[in-house]
Amino acid sequence: VQLPERVVIYELYSNDANDMHYRAKEKITQKLECSLLVVCTEHLVVCQEKKLQSMFFSGQSEKEWNFDSPIRYIKIIGGPPGKEGLILGLKNGQVWEVHLDNIHPLLKVTVNDGIRCLDLSQKKQKLAVVDETGLLQVFNSKSGDLCFQEPNTNSVAFNNLYEDMIAFSGNGSLAIKVLDFPAHRQKMSGFVVGLSGAKVFCLNGSSMVTLELPLSAPMYQYIDRKMYNEAYKVACLGVTDGDWEELGHSALENLEFEVARLAFVKLQDFSYLELIQDLQEQQRKGDTNRDSMIGDIYSHRGKLKEAARLYQKSGQEHKALTMYTDLRMFDLAQEYLGSSDNTDLIRQKADWAKNINEHKAAAEMYLSVGDTQSAIDIYGEKGWADQLIELGRRLDKAERPALLSIAEHLKRLNQASYAAEIYRRLGDSAAVLSLHVEAKEWSQAFALVQTQPQYKSLVYVPYAHWLAENDKFVQAQKAFYKAGKPEEAFKVLQQLIENAISECRFQDAGYYYWIVSRQFLDLAKENIDNQNELLLNFESNETLAGIYYAFHAVHRYLEEPFTSYMPEALFNIARFLMTETCQNKPRGSISAILYCLSKQARKLGANKLAKQILDKIQTLKIPQKFQEQVEIATIAAKARPYSDPEELLPMCYRCSTYNPLASPSSRCMNCGQKFVHSYVSFEILPLVEFVLEEDITDVEAVRLIETPSNDKVKGESWKQEISENRETLQLDVDQDKDPFTSGVGAFEGGDGTFFPVVVNRKTLLSMDSTAVLISKWNPPLRYQYYKNLLPELQITMCHSCFKAFHVDDFELQLLQKGHCPFCRAPPENFLTSDSSDDLLI
Ligand SMILES: [Zn+2]
Ligand SMILES: [Zn+2]
Repeated sequence: VQLPERVVIYELYSNDANDMHYRAKEKITQKLECSLLVVCTEHLVVCQEKKLQSMFFSGQSEKEWNFDSPIRYIKIIGGPPGKEGLILGLKNGQVWEVHLDNIHPLLKVTVNDGIRCLDLSQKKQKLAVVDETGLLQVFNSKSGDLCFQEPNTNSVAFNNLYEDMIAFSGNGSLAIKVLDFPAHRQKMSGFVVGLSGAKVFCLNGSSMVTLELPLSAPMYQYIDRKMYNEAYKVACLGVTDGDWEELGHSALENLEFEVARLAFVKLQDFSYLELIQDLQEQQRKGDTNRDSMIGDIYSHRGKLKEAARLYQKSGQEHKALTMYTDLRMFDLAQEYLGSSDNTDLIRQKADWAKNINEHKAAAEMYLSVGDTQSAIDIYGEKGWADQLIELGRRLDKAERPALLSIAEHLKRLNQASYAAEIYRRLGDSAAVLSLHVEAKEWSQAFALVQTQPQYKSLVYVPYAHWLAENDKFVQAQKAFYKAGKPEEAFKVLQQLIENAISECRFQDAGYYYWIVSRQFLDLAKENIDNQNELLLNFESNETLAGIYYAFHAVHRYLEEPFTSYMPEALFNIARFLMTETCQNKPRGSISAILYCLSKQARKLGANKLAKQILDKIQTLKIPQKFQEQVEIATIAAKARPYSDPEELLPMCYRCSTYNPLASPSSRCMNCGQKFVHSYVSFEILPLVEFVLEEDITDVEAVRLIETPSNDKVKGESWKQEISENRETLQLDVDQDKDPFTSGVGAFEGGDGTFFPVVVNRKTLLSMDSTAVLISKWNPPLRYQYYKNLLPELQITMCHSCFKAFHVDDFELQLLQKGHCPFCRAPPENFLTSDSSDDLLI
């Protein structure tokens, strides 16, 4: 510091370069005439007009340099102690370099105007000069070439830590410039006097200001040019962490690993350091796929799309897949499925996805590697029927196991119709059937069976079970039977019969026996070996059916306070039962039948029968509740005449014999002809069964009978005679004998052998078809023919059970019940109105 009488030299008080505390070091007590003053290690350099003079701190002057023009600016440019260099700017625009140990100055450059300010760069490679006009010029200090110039500048300073950075002020702004990049400007008034790292020293009026300079701009300029080493250097001068980060990433993405590493070291970002290490390792191993590496970097930074794109570009889709799946971004991962043969990898990923419950993605991945089964298992496990259906439709028929598995799952998921679709495609009718069966879609199942009868048992058996479970035993039984499981069918029937009897539903029991008998008949048709046995079974069961059917009325009469039956009907029923039960012992109460019969007999005045019956009852164990009444009736019967009225006696329409009421047989005692009962009123019908001559077939017989009367050879008179009444028939019209009347002697065999009425072709032809009833049994049975001897009494026959009825009775029953009272077959003409269950069968 120059004072009027002396010069004081200060030095830094502490070692801290930024500290501004100084202490006095030397004092030169001399009055110095000078305009500029600088201090070096060992010298003080003063300048007065055109003269430059160096002196020791003692005040003794050493050297002197003289110039042509006044010195305007002086700056120390460093050097060894005692040999420091100075640059001088002259008013005439010359720039001189002076070294304290050298008396010869060196002209550096000359500018057009007087020097206002100048500076030399850190490495002395550049010289900046500002002249009086405010023009800044930067020269190469060696060659003197102009690097660039900038007008409107008042001051300039190179960065003393970084060669390529220069700061200059002027026009109200401070500019920072590196290399030949555009200068970065910020507002500032005053003069820049120094630049050290990121610090700018500025003189503003009379105060010196230190500014922290943002060096981001120059750093980014370097980054833009991909000059990472330079950028790093600038960054080292002082930039924010954000800038460091940007530098690190930018360097990394350009595979400038060293700069990137340094940046991340600065940031202490170990994750990136690790990545860099990995990448460098890769590089060393010779894997230098740039896209792939940058992809890794992008993915690390979270720029997934770019990463994936690069992976794809480098042909390493598996990396994209791995990246996305690791991030559980399965939707995106899918785009990279199947594009190359990463089967193992994808399978691995799929396994993993499955483990973390990303089932959808897992399934897709399995599918992409052709592991259909695993995908199906997932779908199945999750119950995703839609996906299963969709997959099922996509799969080829050849992938049978997969399709079957899908079908299984669909079945389990109650998607039977879709499962069926698959089975149908596979041509597996049996599976389709069992599907319908499992779903209890009987109508579909039966429709299928119709076209493929070989699968009958697949449907009928489960159907029967289902029916049985739903208390539809009758249909169940039919189903078993249809399925070719007669034992099962019989079992069901047996159960039905048991139940019906124990519940006193005797009519039902009768019906079930009827079904049993029909089954035996059907079996007999197929089994030639034991046909006879089966036919016997048919007969006995049919009889039982009749007995239970009839017993129903007796039971109701005894159990219910009122009865809708006329005494005659009850009488007939009871008598029918009495005769029938002589041969067949049903598990019903015989005593109940007899008791009923005795009561009706008494009511109708058949005292003889009543007494006979009561005597019989005495020998039986009878229910307690009838005991007293039976005893009373027995006593009362003794008071009545021991006879039966003739009109009650059953007359044989073949031989006109009156049979006793108490007859134990259902046949005429005289001729052995079997009585035919109406199956509603149980009256004896005027029907006489006849058989054909040996060589006549049923077909021919029916044809002969049905030949219209006017075509008949014998004319009307004969027929007329027959239809009048049976007495007149005894008058022989022709030499041909009427077998129903004239053959009286035929049945008098004497030894009890029964001779049926045998009819020849001629007689058949002569018969009026309306007076003939035919039981058209299926084989192996033959037709049974009955002639109505009282044709004016209209008699009809059920087309199914061939029981005979008075037409009125039968039609009433049809109206009331809709079916035959005995076998429950609907009338032939409205079969279609049957219940759906029956229809199925
Ligand atoms: Zn008879
Ligand atoms: Zn019937």
